[in-house]
Amino acid sequence: MKDNLARVQERIAAAARRAGRAPAGVTLVAVTKTHPPEVVEAAYLAGLRHFGENRVEEAAPKIEAVAAWLVGQKLEADPPAWHMIGHMQSRKAEDAVGPYALIHSVDSLKLARRLDRFASETGRRLPILLEINVSGEASKYGFTPAEVAAALAEIVALPSLHVQGLMTMAPIVADPEETRPVFRALRALRDDLARRFPQMDGRHLSMGMTDDFEVAIEEGATIVRVGRAIFGERRI
Ligand SMILES: *Cc1c(COP(=O)(O)O)cnc(C)c1O
Repeated sequence: MKDNLARVQERIAAAARRAGRAPAGVTLVAVTKTHPPEVVEAAYLAGLRHFGENRVEEAAPKIEAVAAWLVGQKLEADPPAWHMIGHMQSRKAEDAVGPYALIHSVDSLKLARRLDRFASETGRRLPILLEINVSGEASKYGFTPAEVAAALAEIVALPSLHVQGLMTMAPIVADPEETRPVFRALRALRDDLARRFPQMDGRHLSMGMTDDFEVAIEEGATIVRVGRAIFGERRI
């Protein structure tokens, strides 16, 4: 895993430099879904501080186990940031407000409203990204580029949410180069929305996974979500 991680980090840095960007401007979220807490702990010790999970139910006990381990190691002063990257039913919103530093997968107005309600009860302004279905595949969640502005007009006014940008998943293709137009479109959409909605903080573009993260970085990704290239094939 350490070797895989070093290679991924080198590839991130090289892609950033190709685009004239600082490697530090790209945050690596290590996607630990299907992997047990021990894998997260090893990754933490290898230096990773951002972890991504796609299911609230799977993640909750894992986050607790890692937190207890940190206390045992006297490392609790340097906790990792957890990222929710998967589709969430809005009735799970309450469970997502506490543990997550950033929710990447806000894909409906209903979910945004519920997250806002529960975040307001904690007194916290919850950072979120809006998930965009750029490619229009029926199997994918997310706002279409055509409908997102209308939703954003309401979401930017929700007082306990902090919209920090957009997220997308590219289609699965044979050649990663084919994903470039999707990433380019997400960036253009972010630029357009940030112009139209000054209250939106458009700092993040969460895009790029194992098969396409270098192209995503060349197109402006500030967050890449990488699982298999670090941890190998998933366990389920
Ligand atoms: C699983 C997952 C990833 C990571 O995928 P890999 O191909 O393992 O890098 C990234 N983003 C989301 C939303 C995921 O569900």
